[in-house]
Amino acid sequence: MATFGNLSDRLAETFKNLRTKGKLSAADVDGTVREIRRALLEADVALEVVKEFTGKVRERALGDEVNKALNPAQQVVQIVNEELVQILGGEQRRLEFAKKPPTIIMLAGLQGAGKTTLAGKLAKWLAKDGHTPILVAADLQRPNAVTQLEVVGAQAGVPVYAPEPGNGVGDPVRVARDGVKFAQQKLHDVVIVDTAGRLGVDADMMKQAADIRAAIDPDEVLFVIDAMIGQDAVSTARAFQAGVDFTGVVLTKLDGDARGGAALSIASLTGRPIMFASTGESLDDFEPFHPDRMASRILD
Ligand code: GDP
Repeated sequence: MATFGNLSDRLAETFKNLRTKGKLSAADVDGTVREIRRALLEADVALEVVKEFTGKVRERALGDEVNKALNPAQQVVQIVNEELVQILGGEQRRLEFAKKPPTIIMLAGLQGAGKTTLAGKLAKWLAKDGHTPILVAADLQRPNAVTQLEVVGAQAGVPVYAPEPGNGVGDPVRVARDGVKFAQQKLHDVVIVDTAGRLGVDADMMKQAADIRAAIDPDEVLFVIDAMIGQDAVSTARAFQAGVDFTGVVLTKLDGDARGGAALSIASLTGRPIMFASTGESLDDFEPFHPDRMASRILD
């Protein structure tokens, strides 16, 4: 994955140096941990996550499981892999469907994060799996957001609930509520509610998203974040957690070549799992996020 190319290369280099050694001394372990720390920081992984991660790796690498291993270097790589899976959220977390349909999924995040595109991706993926999703256009902030969602809905082959001109325009909370009601009446089993973002964290946007959340009581609130925004990812995630809160994270633009380490910090810093990854502009560039697969890709 392009986003983590540099990090992968750096870690591969570190492990290559380690493999030339037989038994590992404390100095070898410290040197390796220092290099891992530098590689993670350069990839923009948040300092507190790096500290916790390297602390655990160091402790385990100095312990018996490495000391007694036939191949200590390989054992250290294994430990790094396991700890990376942990900071990425551990087990894969799947969508939780409501016992009584429809399952309500609300999307939140900054403007340009990829929410509208994601709405289409998620809907298409769900429809392929036998669900009957509908999209709700509650982003009334951007002039053509509603049209954009209609285009995405058509591409995905799923219907879109959009406000009639003059009816609910300017009131996204009402559109969201009416959209959910409509979905119930039409027996859709999943409703995906797109909401408005702003270019930066903004009190009005947070209030609107929190009001929508309160009005529709979603089963999942997915925080959509552009992996390319670097260190701002962490403060943005924290602001959304405080302002709206979310049940899961979606990383977008993992196809980009920016350092994606900040995005890697989010699960660990917020305690919320990364549930999906978006890797391009096409509706098929989308997949459930597997912490173990991502860790393997980074360490490949
Ligand atoms: P929103 O403002 O959060 O609804 O964001 P949009 O869905 O409109 O996406 C903003 C831009 O990012 C659009 O040009 C999308 O085509 C693009 N985009 C969305 N997801 C991805 C992705 O995973 N990779 C890439 N390269 N572009 C994406």
